[in-house]
Amino acid sequence: AKAAGKRQWRRFRPQQRIRRVERHELQARLNEAVSRGQFTLRYQPVVDLATGDVAGFEALVRWRHSRYGLVSPDQFIPLAEETGQISPLGAWVLHHAAADIARLRHISRASAAPYVSVNVSAHQWRGAEFLGEVCGALDAAGLAPGALLLEITESVLMQRDRELDRLVREMKDLGVRIAVDDFGSGFSSLRYLREFPVDVLKIDKTFVDDIAYNTRQVALVQGIVHLADTLGLEVIAEGIEEPAQQELLAGIGCRFGQGYLFATPMTVEQGEEVLRRRGGD
Ligand code: C2E
Ligand code: CA
Ligand code: CA
Ligand code: CA
Repeated sequence: AKAAGKRQWRRFRPQQRIRRVERHELQARLNEAVSRGQFTLRYQPVVDLATGDVAGFEALVRWRHSRYGLVSPDQFIPLAEETGQISPLGAWVLHHAAADIARLRHISRASAAPYVSVNVSAHQWRGAEFLGEVCGALDAAGLAPGALLLEITESVLMQRDRELDRLVREMKDLGVRIAVDDFGSGFSSLRYLREFPVDVLKIDKTFVDDIAYNTRQVALVQGIVHLADTLGLEVIAEGIEEPAQQELLAGIGCRFGQGYLFATPMTVEQGEEVLRRRGGD
């Protein structure tokens, strides 16, 4: 048994080393990417389900890689979070998203100018410098704090402590709004809502996926929408792909939605086009 164990260990070792080298390389490339400006943002409209108006845009980062093309955040955000590289990357996202949305708000002729929604990782919510970065990004862009929505995932909220609570309160005092991302994907969603001052619930895509075929799912989402109404929160349904889903969600009082049915994430120039078209109606 001992020998077998040894053999197994030997067999595994080279592979582990390769994985470590790959991670190392990816880490080095990520550092380079920040300094060389290889990141780029795409914006997905958040739409009023009843009117089709664009209420805001969610900023979604991509890595413009010389060999692999546009790399999806799922491929590098988790590693960047582990290594702490998410801090400079997150600051970059914040600054560019604020600047881009300031530009979009300028050309928007709609009565309600669009906001920008930015994903903030656990690591950033833990950093002492985050509040300063938010203020810096708003100042540099000349953006009103109310035009910034910060997304916090449910998993972060489940590990709340005094420091996180204080940081969020400071953001709110500043006038920045807070959204719970992937709402409903965790196990104690209702618990933190009791005491945590959020403004927006983003209903996880998994609730939306089979809503047109599953009456229990409809009841669940209806419950979330009622709860949000009672607490004075806005609701955004994520990942809407079919007209039937839109109709159902609008029918049960869900005001906002996002998804490929309306638009995939787009460049800021395309966002400008969308606003111009709608403003010209
Ligand atoms: P998320 O915040 O839940 O963002 C929603 C994801 O679903 C996006 O993927 C979006 O493109 C995709 N999506 C939108 N509508 C639909 C739809 O109708 N159907 C389907 N199948 N997908 C849809 P994306 O852009 O690849 O981002 C993946 C995740 O990466 C995000 O999930 C977010 O957790 C993370 N992420 C993206 N940008 C940032 C960032 O700047 N900072 C941080 N910390 N995380 C980011
Ligand atoms: Ca998000
Ligand atoms: Ca989400
Ligand atoms: Ca997600």
